[in-house]
Amino acid sequence: MRPFRYARPDSLDHATQLTGSAEGKAIAGGTNLVDLMKLQVEAPQELIDINRLTMGKIADTDDGGLRIGALATNTATAAHDRVRSDYPVLARAILAGATQQLRNKATTGGNLCQRTRCYYFTNIDQPCNKRDPGSGCGAIKGIARLHAILGTSPQCIATYPGDMAVAMAALNATVEITAEGDRQRTVPVRDFHRLPGDRPEKDNVLEAGEIITGVTLPVPVEGKHIYRKVRERSSYAFALVSVAAVVAMEEGRISRADLAFGGLAHKPWYDPRLSELLVDEVPSAALFDKAADLLLEDAQGYGENDFKIPLARRTLAATLANATGVEL
Ligand code: SF4
Repeated sequence: MRPFRYARPDSLDHATQLTGSAEGKAIAGGTNLVDLMKLQVEAPQELIDINRLTMGKIADTDDGGLRIGALATNTATAAHDRVRSDYPVLARAILAGATQQLRNKATTGGNLCQRTRCYYFTNIDQPCNKRDPGSGCGAIKGIARLHAILGTSPQCIATYPGDMAVAMAALNATVEITAEGDRQRTVPVRDFHRLPGDRPEKDNVLEAGEIITGVTLPVPVEGKHIYRKVRERSSYAFALVSVAAVVAMEEGRISRADLAFGGLAHKPWYDPRLSELLVDEVPSAALFDKAADLLLEDAQGYGENDFKIPLARRTLAATLANATGVEL
């Protein structure tokens, strides 16, 4: 690990001033950043510890939604009464990720900003356009078992590794961001992470000097909440494919189908066409097949991860069958 300076600001304004410098990087739980610093993948000259800021509260919003502070831990969020009762897909997604010890430290803001687990990204001896722009992508013709099949570019085929944000995408949550001078903006979680394009080094839309201050969940809706995660082993593994689903039925027809996917792309994958296809239809295996055709029409495998295309199809069908009571 390279030497770095350490700052512990007491105010959000001071924290945004410090993170605005090219040398600074915010740290909260540190469950991803510290690992990357040890590997010299990240080498900030200054760490800005934001844990003194009071951003850990989880509270009802005036309209009946829920605001989760950026420093709320994953454990606190998953255990919160309203998350468990009104947004259970979020609690299930969080509990499907990492380990209890990591969830005790990991925060909402940090989880959204976690970086890919691509093996080439975390090995500084290997080419990687995300870590070292212009050096090439080792994964495209290399070890790509965990990699993306949707939204890839010739520059990068990495996946966003998290679970929490996949559920937040299905719930249509909003990220609150604050910059120096208390300038605030909001971004839907569905638009927070980027596709790699020709700038794979940029994971999300956060700019220098901006800090995530919270995430707001909209008013809860009726429906069955499911988080289905397919992985190499039953715990402490990243998703090969995951589906977060909020699905409701009315008089034998699907009345709501909010779906987001993990393990398939550089961001939690949300395709609004799926809801348009499924809503008002009688659920059936044939309908689920059509939904999978639509989801995967542009899917591309890279050898080792070709299996994800049929796996995503089966995972989507199993999730919808579970939500609607259809026997496959
Ligand atoms: Fe780097 Fe992306 Fe290629 Fe992995 S897939 S080696 S993160 S450029």
